Amino acid sequence: MSPPIDRRTFVAAAIGTATSPWWTRVAQAHSHDTAMRLQPFPLADIRLLPGPVLDALQVNRRYLMGLDPDRLLHSFRITAGLPSSASPLGGWEAPDNELRGHFTGHYLSACALLAAQTGDTEIRARGDAMVTELAKCQAAFGTGYLSAFPEELFDRLRAGKPAWAPFYTIHKIMAGLLDSYTLSGNESALATLLGMAKWTSNWVRPLGDDAMARVLEREYGGMNELLRNLGAATGDAQWQDLARRFDHERIFAPLAAGRDELQGMHVNTTIPKIIGAARGYELDGDPRLHDVADYFWHTVTERRTFCTGGTSSGESWNTPPSQLAKELSGYTQECCVTYNMQKLTRHVFTWTADARAADYYERTFYNGILGVQHPQDGDKLYYVPLQSGFWKLFGTPLHDFWCCTGSMAESFAKLGDSIYFRDERDVYVNLFVPSTLSWREKGLQLTMETRFPESETIRLTVRLDRPLDLPLRIRVPGWTREGSASLNGRRLDSFASPGSYLVIDRRWRDGDVVEVTLPMHLHYAAIPDDPSLRAVMFGPIVLAGRLGNAGLTRDVLRAGPTKPRTVPEYAAEPVAAPAIVTSGLEPSGWLKPVPGRPLEFQTVGQARPLTLSPLSRIFDERYAVYWKV
Ligand SMILES: [Zn+2]
Repeated sequence: MSPPIDRRTFVAAAIGTATSPWWTRVAQAHSHDTAMRLQPFPLADIRLLPGPVLDALQVNRRYLMGLDPDRLLHSFRITAGLPSSASPLGGWEAPDNELRGHFTGHYLSACALLAAQTGDTEIRARGDAMVTELAKCQAAFGTGYLSAFPEELFDRLRAGKPAWAPFYTIHKIMAGLLDSYTLSGNESALATLLGMAKWTSNWVRPLGDDAMARVLEREYGGMNELLRNLGAATGDAQWQDLARRFDHERIFAPLAAGRDELQGMHVNTTIPKIIGAARGYELDGDPRLHDVADYFWHTVTERRTFCTGGTSSGESWNTPPSQLAKELSGYTQECCVTYNMQKLTRHVFTWTADARAADYYERTFYNGILGVQHPQDGDKLYYVPLQSGFWKLFGTPLHDFWCCTGSMAESFAKLGDSIYFRDERDVYVNLFVPSTLSWREKGLQLTMETRFPESETIRLTVRLDRPLDLPLRIRVPGWTREGSASLNGRRLDSFASPGSYLVIDRRWRDGDVVEVTLPMHLHYAAIPDDPSLRAVMFGPIVLAGRLGNAGLTRDVLRAGPTKPRTVPEYAAEPVAAPAIVTSGLEPSGWLKPVPGRPLEFQTVGQARPLTLSPLSRIFDERYAVYWKV
């Protein structure tokens, strides 16, 4: 028998009331130095509990630990004039590839993230050992420079001659070192990073604004963000000044003015620059940088994303806003783009506590991240094809090392990220992933148990040293209807509207249990400029029709060794998906659940029967996401 809910318990919807506290904080965001009203909990405070998300993290761990450090270091050593007998890696890490070394940077980040996420000392030691070896390479260069390719690429960049993307690659290495310092406490990583930053400063300083503007036309990753984070980590303002030289005014100006001029732009070149703007707003309080990032986030998430939350086709935005019908291809939704949109969304959420930002993050988590790692060998996807009849074209673990291989090695190392946020008092629960949260200063441990999305129920158990007054804010997603909650077995008489937070503000006691039920329904996500072209979703989950694996031999399923400067290409043609005939307004008119198989649906009344499953669970098979209905 559960005790009655005490009178101190206050339950409210976080949106739609004039007294709602977080609106007040949003208003303050423009008038105070500190822009961040919320902060994510550090990865080290979050542990994943058994389930498919933890399984995916472990697949990535095996993948990371399976890579040979000497092979990852080979081109660094050779370029620095040090001996190396390791056999070189292939793809974009091959000795003649101008991006070589980029993956090693991602690898440092992935090791540091995974060590923080799990407390795994073996993976931390792997990252630390790599940092030590890279420091030796830097010492051999003698100028602070550190790269797997020679400085000559930067000479070409300065002269306006062809060079793929030197600062892009340097950014990955610097970010890996910064993560090693901030997450693993590796002081040598900071020293090496400072050497690289000084080298960068020396390279940039002689350039006038026009010359620097030309340099910024070449993809440079998130140099502006990285240098701002270095400034924040060291308290040295020179890095903020250097960061501003990497702010790309040509990109920022229209966004600050609220104009979407993104058509024709390379997507993954652009987003990291905007993340740099977001970080600049947070550290400097510059409202213009806020407007750049805020407008960008809104126009991309509201007018340029597919049902999955992903964006880009052939790596670019090729159309005006809200025109996506012609964008569906085998080369949609580059995975780096999803990685970076998640990162930007995390910033936007900390400014606004807007549940819609958390909804967007969730959509990308299930439909843009979880399904892009092959469960067998941990290889990562480059594109998530959204044209019907394609399949997920994975690479081979030692022969590709695409940009997305690196970004996803990081993503799958930090799957506990952005589940929980906090301000001074409140805890926000944003994602429904089995995990524990420790808020040490408060003596609070929160355990989330759920089989979501297979189950609609989320159970949160509070562990406390002593009773604690705390508002617990649980996201009520925009996709749910008629949700409910109970506290210690007693149903709460009010609930929050979809797209807001359920706030339970009370004096918590050890052992308190909250259960939330978030019913999921089938619904359409239509292409904005062709309402007859629709995807089907169940809650936040994109469903894909299984079109079989005819003709998909191993050679067709895997991209094979990718040559320098090439992206994977399909070795067979897509097949057409059948049109759906229905008179109903809802997908439930032609889809019925498969008994005993959660999240699976069977078509009804169609010429060719098909099964639909979550896109994230389909591997080595053709599929269709968008249907002509
Ligand atoms: Zn990529």
